Amino acid sequence: MIYNVAQLIKSPVGTSLTADINEENVQLDEDLKVVGPLVGKGRMRRVNQGLLVDGWVDINLELTCTRCLKQFEQLMHLPFEERFYPTIDIVTGMPLPPTEEEDVFPIDDHHLIDLTEAIRQRVLLELPMVTLCQEDCAGLCSQCGHDLNLGPCDCKPEVDERFSVLNALLQKDV
Ligand SMILES: [Zn+2]
Ligand SMILES: [Zn+2]
Repeated sequence: MIYNVAQLIKSPVGTSLTADINEENVQLDEDLKVVGPLVGKGRMRRVNQGLLVDGWVDINLELTCTRCLKQFEQLMHLPFEERFYPTIDIVTGMPLPPTEEEDVFPIDDHHLIDLTEAIRQRVLLELPMVTLCQEDCAGLCSQCGHDLNLGPCDCKPEVDERFSVLNALLQKDV
């Protein structure tokens, strides 16, 4: 997701251009599997110190259910708005002092911006700690591992195992 913004940086403040985002084989993070292309729309606007880039992407992730460990796909719609500041002066080619502002991405010394990192951060921020294949996922039987979404298993209702183990230990010691 790399865009050359040399022309835009030379343009007056307020100039903007839009781009369709359509990326195949996006690799965001080693723990994140993206299914299919990432599609969206971006708009880049020349502002005083650099560029303001906003838009949205739709991304389809393959996630693992926290309860039943099944893999499932989840579509995420992610609006984003980020600032990109140049690292070199477009006219002189001289390096610019690093910005003191936070949450700013660099425009590299070839006048390229890469949306990948911005989108990666958005995805990680939006991704819930607990990912469920369905809201009422029944999970796995803690005794035999049977997927309880497919129906009950033959295990006895769970007596608290911790206590029975404790009992066994106590009896052994006596
Ligand atoms: Zn599940
Ligand atoms: Zn069971």
